[in-house]
Amino acid sequence: MRFKKALAAVGLLAAATLTLAGCNSGSPAAPGGSGDDAASSETPWEVAEGFTLEGSPTFDKMEERGKVVIGVKEDQPNLGYLDNVTGERSGFDVDIARWIAASLGFDEDQIEYKAIASANREQAIVNGDIDYYVGTYSINDKRKADIDFAGPYFITGQGLLVKQGDTDYQSLEELDGKTVCSATGSTPIQNIKENFPGIKTQEFDLYSACVESLLNGQVDAVTTDQAILIGYAAQDPDNLMVTSGPLLTEEKYGVGLPKGDDVLRAHINDLFTDGGDVWDAVFERNLGDSGIKVEQPEVDAY
Ligand code: GLU
Repeated sequence: MRFKKALAAVGLLAAATLTLAGCNSGSPAAPGGSGDDAASSETPWEVAEGFTLEGSPTFDKMEERGKVVIGVKEDQPNLGYLDNVTGERSGFDVDIARWIAASLGFDEDQIEYKAIASANREQAIVNGDIDYYVGTYSINDKRKADIDFAGPYFITGQGLLVKQGDTDYQSLEELDGKTVCSATGSTPIQNIKENFPGIKTQEFDLYSACVESLLNGQVDAVTTDQAILIGYAAQDPDNLMVTSGPLLTEEKYGVGLPKGDDVLRAHINDLFTDGGDVWDAVFERNLGDSGIKVEQPEVDAY
């Protein structure tokens, strides 16, 4: 029930967001949303003390090494972003990752972040390179064959980013014969390849490289989750806009986990279920100014 409500909210917001993202005089949300120091002590969560998690091999590893290793994105403003000047990480996903770490008893200086591109996520989890992954990671059956997901903790859908003022393309159908860019190993590139054979594709590891190509005129549009595109448009509203067309898919974001660690998965699912206030605060401080309005989705504990 709540999924539908949340998606309807995303859909409604697509139009409102377009206005925001496409408005030259609007003030774009800076990476980090309200500008809070995301790693500051004023976090909406608390670090658990004396915490243990019986029966979780992933937690045992964290405890042994005295830190958590988390896979993230770092080129997605407001979601998963690294400011190369200050070294500060920010974004909704990064805060979700921190909240989980805190619930397991680890604070910011006990977190090691690893930037991992879309195509390499399952392998990184399977190899044990990271304890968990939080970065615009859609839950789907193909991925579930290799890993597990906690969540979902956010819902968005596939959208389109074009050059500011370019009203030629509102849907993928209108891009037939044109070149569309997305990330290797992502659900949107798969959607184009499977369902829109007339569209030429350009792939990069990172969406920021697609945005560069769009600005340079090498591709006609970038496609991925609307929440990601809104972050890029907000950074450069003079040159980029998100189209007002309907969302093309439903993308439910989950926390990627090693397969079979049911204890850790249940812990994170309970954290989300019981932590509505923290979720609201995390949303507000990262996406509150973005124009996105999404309710916290109900956990789907499979
Ligand atoms: N959510 C989509 C996916 O998991 C697109 C965003 C991404 O590549 O991270 O494939």
